Amino acid sequence: MRPLQFHGLSGLTGLVHDRRVRLAVTGLSGSGKTAFITSLVCNLLGTAGRPARLPFLRSGAERRIIGAKLLASDDGAISQFPLHETIAALADDPPSWPPSTTDLRRVDLSLRFTPTGLIGRAAGGTAELRLEILDYPGEWLLDLPLLGRSYHEWSRAALDLARRGARGPLAGEWLEFVGQHPANGAGDEVIAQRAHDLYRAFLAACRTREQLSLLQPGRFLNPGQMADPSVLRFCPVPFPIGARARPGSLGAIMEARFEAYKRAVIQPFFMDLARNVDRQIVLVDVLRALNAGEEAFADQRLALETILEAFRFGRRSPLRLLFGARIDRVLFAATKADHVPALQRDHLEALIANLVAVPTLRARRSHARVAASTLASIRCTEDGTDAIDGRKVDVVIGLPQGGHRRIRFFPGIVPVTPPPSGFWGERFTDFPIFQPPRIEGASGEGVPHINLDKALEFLLGDALA
Ligand code: GDP
Repeated sequence: MRPLQFHGLSGLTGLVHDRRVRLAVTGLSGSGKTAFITSLVCNLLGTAGRPARLPFLRSGAERRIIGAKLLASDDGAISQFPLHETIAALADDPPSWPPSTTDLRRVDLSLRFTPTGLIGRAAGGTAELRLEILDYPGEWLLDLPLLGRSYHEWSRAALDLARRGARGPLAGEWLEFVGQHPANGAGDEVIAQRAHDLYRAFLAACRTREQLSLLQPGRFLNPGQMADPSVLRFCPVPFPIGARARPGSLGAIMEARFEAYKRAVIQPFFMDLARNVDRQIVLVDVLRALNAGEEAFADQRLALETILEAFRFGRRSPLRLLFGARIDRVLFAATKADHVPALQRDHLEALIANLVAVPTLRARRSHARVAASTLASIRCTEDGTDAIDGRKVDVVIGLPQGGHRRIRFFPGIVPVTPPPSGFWGERFTDFPIFQPPRIEGASGEGVPHINLDKALEFLLGDALA
């Protein structure tokens, strides 16, 4: 099968005239990757001469960005990010949200800028940054712990998790089926397929009905393009303690596919991530998890912890240990921050920093950096105030999708630390889907945002210096 490689991305250089940065964008499904990339590209394309667009991107504010253009990718292995379609959706009347992307995608930009350093200026006045943006489903990161587990270990842990909490009722049909077809029974292909289908349906229900995040293996819900999808046809099955799969049994088929999945899918993916990516942004829809309740929030935390392992710096980094790693800046961003007014955005930033425990991830090596922030890639609201029971409260004002009148929306108070059990007594709040602002197209006035420029300064500031 064709491993989903990031190959074709040639080396990062520190050369003045040929800088190249590979920025990977990820996040679980619905976290805002498509919106982020569309806004980032639109805003960068028009930033030359419009410093107000990205005021905290230093090179832009200092008017050092002279030009930006899209580049044709030189890599046939990765599909292009559908930029024309995503921009067209936002430029439509009325504008609509572009459909989410679900596979590995790529878009390349060239930024011409005036470097700040003496050497740069002496070398001819302008430099070029080739920015290669890669978009991949965050679900794929959830597979990292599988590399260190045997099929038996993984099966046991997955079955244990499936029986708990909100998962339990959703797992019923699959658990009953694998209970009726013991691991040491005949290795029948039809049974293996049915067991896999039921497990996949269980994962899908966990995502859509309970908003759960820790859904492994990551490719079951987000397979991406695969030359040989048959390696996916497995699922956990119960083994008696200490038992080994008898050759030719159902357990043996499942185990062989689990190992093939690790070898042919997980390993090449992490190897490419470790070797070819320089900068990473992880988008997290914290507000949605808060909104979905205690279990969804706790599950998002577990998923985040798994994702964090992939981007840990220093000697305990599993990625570094397995494949070496070149990523030296990682930003965790709580998205859709325009759902809450300014003060609550500060709360949200404290909460995401707390969730990813930034200090524990920091590297001793001084140049590796991790940060947490909030952002709205496409700002749909403005801040305002309202009176509730005679008290003035901060609200956001925006047009709900499909609506005719703007609403004043009071989102409640975002906790600054993971909330205690008492918090969950009443549901946090249901966020409306706001209609995005209409844009003029790639060369127009840009896309309104919150903190996109700060995120870019963290991720690319040094490359544009
Ligand atoms: P992806 O699956 O990670 O690519 O997620 P998308 O970028 O498609 O975002 C999913 C949905 O989240 C969108 O359709 C919007 O409804 C919402 N969304 C994404 N970014 C923003 C934002 O900056 N502000 C608001 N208000 N909603 C957003």
